Amino acid sequence: MNAHVSVSPALSTPSASAGGLLTIDLAALRANYRLLREEAGGAAVAGVVKADGYGLGARKVAWALWAEGCRSFFVALLSEALELRASLPAAAEILVLNGLSAGSEAAAAEAGVVPVLNSLEQVRAFAALGRARGKPLPAAIQLDSGMSRLGLSPGEVDALTSDAEALAGLDLVLVMSHLACADETAHPANAAQLAAFEALSEKLPSARRSLANSAGIFLGARHRFDLVRPGIALYGGSPVSGRANPMQPVVTLEARVAQLREVPAGAGIGYGFTAVSQAPKRLATIGIGYADGWPRMAASGCAAFFRGVRLPIIGRVSMDSIVLDATHPGADALAAGDLVELIGAHQSLEDVAVAAGTISYEILTSLGRRFERRVLNETAGA
Ligand SMILES: *Cc1c(COP(=O)(O)O)cnc(C)c1O
Repeated sequence: MNAHVSVSPALSTPSASAGGLLTIDLAALRANYRLLREEAGGAAVAGVVKADGYGLGARKVAWALWAEGCRSFFVALLSEALELRASLPAAAEILVLNGLSAGSEAAAAEAGVVPVLNSLEQVRAFAALGRARGKPLPAAIQLDSGMSRLGLSPGEVDALTSDAEALAGLDLVLVMSHLACADETAHPANAAQLAAFEALSEKLPSARRSLANSAGIFLGARHRFDLVRPGIALYGGSPVSGRANPMQPVVTLEARVAQLREVPAGAGIGYGFTAVSQAPKRLATIGIGYADGWPRMAASGCAAFFRGVRLPIIGRVSMDSIVLDATHPGADALAAGDLVELIGAHQSLEDVAVAAGTISYEILTSLGRRFERRVLNETAGA
């Protein structure tokens, strides 16, 4: 074990006041980073830590990745970059995917964060600042290889290259683009975007190139270029749809039982009485609801688990509570105050996302602030 690794806080019963316990295992995150590094061949592996590290805590996540040798970190917003910059070592490269809004160039330059310039205006403004300062500013440029979201269009790339002075003032450290359909391995857009990215990036001065997110890493060597940018796979989400998930789970979510009750046959359960007991039942109400990021749609088909026994969710998800059907001999010992598992060994992040008609990204980034959070295997520095 790494000498810098500590467990914090000690494994213990969570405070009884929280409705749920979210456990984040940074050793699993680090194992996922190592697996992706292997998969990436020779490409460097960045960490995408936008949206507070997909809801898990950007600073702690970034430090855990740093300990594995990760040196490039992507966030979406300048505000996120400035926060991270204050924590990470100076040698960490922090890149801002959404680029810079007009007027924020100096703040980015002063903090030493690297904007991903997404339009001609952004390129011109940042280059002008670099010239004014008499020192080229590190910058990345994003190209739109077909997703129509962010980055320079082919026409804008031509406009840029026809002006010999346009990039003066910039130290171009990275040229990147983003794949729209990488999780669908056979999608024709993957080859089309690759070709477009190669053609467009060749028009720019040579710099490191980056195209692949988590799913893109699994498309093969040609999509990986110099640097890959995984996010969801680091956090245990499945990078490729329709395949067994090779990543280790990072998150466990447990909910506390607030109350147990016996109801007769014919009892309406929860809002709208969408469930009515067909027979006498034992119900357990847990203190987690949609305000904690548990989707209202993740009800029928989902369950909580007590010592491996499946307790189906019954009726609608409320704001702060969910009712479970605990009518099972294996749940006889269940008592108020006990914790039951909602995301973990028995029900994966992906299971919940599928039940809710969404993706693991949305589940993770929605996980609420009312949980007690326990971070395992935290790294020194964080
Ligand atoms: C969010 C994001 C990533 C990470 O994507 P994952 O699918 O989570 O791996 C990479 N690149 C860009 C441009 C992104 O916006």
